[in-house]
Amino acid sequence: MNLHEYQAKELFAQYGIPVPAGKTVSTVAEADEARAALGGDAWVVKAQVHAGGRGKAGGVKKVAKPAELAATVMVMLGTRLVTHQTGPGGQPVGQVLIEAPCAIARELYLACLVDRTRERVVVMASTEGGMDIEAVAATSPHKILKEFVDPVAGLQPYQCRELAFALGLADKQVAAFTQIVLGLYRLFMERDLSLVEINPLVVTADDGLLALDGKINVDDSALYR
Ligand code: ADP
Ligand code: MG
Repeated sequence: MNLHEYQAKELFAQYGIPVPAGKTVSTVAEADEARAALGGDAWVVKAQVHAGGRGKAGGVKKVAKPAELAATVMVMLGTRLVTHQTGPGGQPVGQVLIEAPCAIARELYLACLVDRTRERVVVMASTEGGMDIEAVAATSPHKILKEFVDPVAGLQPYQCRELAFALGLADKQVAAFTQIVLGLYRLFMERDLSLVEINPLVVTADDGLLALDGKINVDDSALYR
């Protein structure tokens, strides 16, 4: 079962992974309330569909005026968004996430999944965030970093630090990155996930780390739990 971005971000927040302030709405009136509650003078409107590639397909829009926000929400809601992952029919947009914009310095990739050949959970990271990881794997596989998790010992902080150093994070970001990766692994294990992906995990202009997108697949065999 796939979750929406906003649901993934709710889980991220529960596991100590920082996400932008945001609200999910399904009407223009709710969007106005969300804008007032969030404050600020610019917002990002994000179509909630079970597919990536929304940015390039018009499903992620930055707006800087309340009227523009209302118009953008109006256009997105009720349409079908077609991205390279949806097929030609697209997917219906019933909800949009309205989010505070963030100033991006770097876009990284971070994920937890099962490596079936090794029979281990693997944490994958890359400096090539914001891109399709399949494309990175095809053209520059050496840019995908992997840490395999010992099933008995669990993910170790030193493994997170090794990823942080390989990603070129500054010393002051290593502790925050380690907490994010440990939180992601705990989320993966406790919620019976088959995939959790943050793409992009951004380094903000003020040197913070923030999960800007979230993708979660729950293992169908575990849904009864
Ligand atoms: P998708 O992967 O479906 O294209 P993302 O949520 O990854 O959608 O958004 C696409 C791009 O839009 C991101 O890589 C990032 O550059 C930008 N973006 C997304 N959310 C925000 C935000 N809150 N603030 C600033 N930029 C954002
Ligand atoms: Mg993304």
